[in-house]
Amino acid sequence: MATSPRTPLIAGNWKMHGRLTMARELASAVAHGAPAGIDVLLCPPFPYLAPVAVTLQGSHVHLGAQNLATEAEGAYTGEVSGDMLADLQCGYVLVGHSERRTLYGETDDVVAAKFQRAQAAGLTPVLCIGETLAEREAGDTETVIARQLDAVLAQVGVEALQQAVLAYEPVWAIGTGLTATPAQAQAVHRFIRARIEARDGQIAASLRILYGGSVKADNAASLLAETDIDGGLIGGASLDADSFLAICQAA
Ligand code: PGA
Repeated sequence: MATSPRTPLIAGNWKMHGRLTMARELASAVAHGAPAGIDVLLCPPFPYLAPVAVTLQGSHVHLGAQNLATEAEGAYTGEVSGDMLADLQCGYVLVGHSERRTLYGETDDVVAAKFQRAQAAGLTPVLCIGETLAEREAGDTETVIARQLDAVLAQVGVEALQQAVLAYEPVWAIGTGLTATPAQAQAVHRFIRARIEARDGQIAASLRILYGGSVKADNAASLLAETDIDGGLIGGASLDADSFLAICQAA
């Protein structure tokens, strides 16, 4: 990573885990232990954004949400808008996480709409893309990645990536304990960056592409050492302050 022009970003996706006390304690531990020189981001569940924002005050740890509505405002019971997240000091929001795609039916078009909405609210979207095991085994990894990426680029244009982060998360590696090898991950990251390079070299060179999927303290350093891996999107291991901080230290 030392030679990369891109500042590493380590993001914790807490998903629907924990309670308020844990959220405060975890955020406090991360706020105190996060190393300088990298960007650190925490994405707690919606109800804990406000208390975690208070806990993170005065630290350099960023706050993000895990999801947002496709619409700006209106009669959408149960939805949370990008502007509301911005009000709670969120700077980032995950878009198109595979759990949103598979469990809640978010299509490429919905993901593209959320990406656009996030930016309209001044948030930096962290766009998640990745193939399932069946798709990988069928040799379709690049086709799937290209489709997911192009759906967003068709909607917002390549320039929008100046204010965005990508996360490559092979679905088969999320929460399963299976991790892509550094070489497997690097190959897809390179594919993604090359696809963006073909449209704009400068944007491709400065775009951060995170890897996610069973990143732990003991495999983080080897993944992060790859040229096109600029950080991590951490699920399970982000729920333990020591593990998460060890991953931050590896970046
Ligand atoms: P995991 O989750 O680290 O638990 O595999 C990653 C993610 O879903 O972002």
